Amino acid sequence: MTNTPPANGATLRATDAQHHLHPFTDTASLNAKGARVITKAKGVYLWDSEGERLIDGMSGLWCVNMGYGRQELVDAANRQMEALPYYNTFFQTTNEPAVHLAQAIAEITPGDLNHVFFAGSGSEAIDTVIRMVRHYWTLNGQPDRKILIARDNAYHGSTIAGASLGGMSGMHKQAAPLLPDIHRISQPYWYGEGRDMSEHDFGIACARELEDKILELGPDNVAAFIGEPVQGAGGVIVPPASYWPEIQRICNKYGILLASDEVICGFGRTGSWFGCETLGFQPDIISMAKGLSSGYLPISAVAVGERIASTLINKCGDFNHGFTYSGHPVAAAVALENIRLLRDERVIEYVANTIGPYFQSRVRERLGDHPLCGHIEGVGLLAGIALVKDKASGTLFESGVDVGTVCRDHCFNNGLVMRACGSRMVFCPPLVISRAEVDEMVEKARACFDLTYEDVM
Ligand code: PLP
Repeated sequence: MTNTPPANGATLRATDAQHHLHPFTDTASLNAKGARVITKAKGVYLWDSEGERLIDGMSGLWCVNMGYGRQELVDAANRQMEALPYYNTFFQTTNEPAVHLAQAIAEITPGDLNHVFFAGSGSEAIDTVIRMVRHYWTLNGQPDRKILIARDNAYHGSTIAGASLGGMSGMHKQAAPLLPDIHRISQPYWYGEGRDMSEHDFGIACARELEDKILELGPDNVAAFIGEPVQGAGGVIVPPASYWPEIQRICNKYGILLASDEVICGFGRTGSWFGCETLGFQPDIISMAKGLSSGYLPISAVAVGERIASTLINKCGDFNHGFTYSGHPVAAAVALENIRLLRDERVIEYVANTIGPYFQSRVRERLGDHPLCGHIEGVGLLAGIALVKDKASGTLFESGVDVGTVCRDHCFNNGLVMRACGSRMVFCPPLVISRAEVDEMVEKARACFDLTYEDVM
């Protein structure tokens, strides 16, 4: 592959530092060294402006499920750009890709989630979930049901609503004052917070916190519980198997809506179309983004079951909510083609039966005995590795030793993208990764764990 025109990394870095404010970045320290300019990508690989190749163990930002460089997705965008680059879906109009995409999402979502609302990003989908569940209760004569219950260390996006709903303390500090009527319970992080119990008992105990919280707040004030099936940005926290069925039982008992934030877990990541299927629960409402278009264009969606849909359709009149890009025809055309590829190439089955199990076993074989590795958890093509100071006791590094960042930087300087979530290292590679590429990725990680060990011990 060639760059046209050839990218000049140094010039781009200088201009970037002058004008570009990066998300979730300390811009001053970034500008001191300059951003790495990514110029092209194919399959699971990225190249930078200096010609260095990296294996992308993170699918961009957890999104490039089909891998880079799929011509079918480029062609779908081109065709739709030429036919109809934009029109809105607000005022009694629709467009062909949005119609077919809504139908395709209805077909792949579990249960009766047959109605779909479109937005542009995961955060907008989360705002939509909040708006919908609160309005649902108002329309059903229970306007006091405003409270959403979420979890510590959850990530639900970066708008005020997303930051308020999420449980990231660093975001809360900067987003204050937060949205009212949001409450939180513990995350189901057994290795970090529950090792004095069996995993099963810890899962039940964490779920029962939801019941305690509902009773404390008054069931008639609670609209919904929301959670990621597997917490992603929190560090890939896979809950004990006992957790989600108990959450489902409690939501059913109190008639509370159950929302699954599938922005990361959707579209095959855990080996099913949606994470709730792998983790064993049936939500009333699902938010999705990222893997919906494999990140090729921004698009998100919220799918709702009959319970919410019939209320919104029959009792609401105008639903005063939507975005300029809701049902964007080009983004919808790309998402539709992406779903076709996932389906026709049997990618979900590949994750469930072939590459997911291979990846999980290779990560454990090659990283499990490393002195820095305290614990590995994962499902499908997601894995989180807790880095610890003392392997036997699982003691964490003292604050001030930013072991995750040290490790992430070694990876980035040695041809591998991994993410650090605090002291947890995370993998989320494209779903189309091959066995040989899994081996390469894990070997590189092992070498970078060694370099990290030398630095921090
Ligand atoms: N929800 C979850 C579970 C996410 O992981 C993210 C992003 O990482 C979001 C919501 C927000 O998505 P976006 O960054 O597209 O707004």
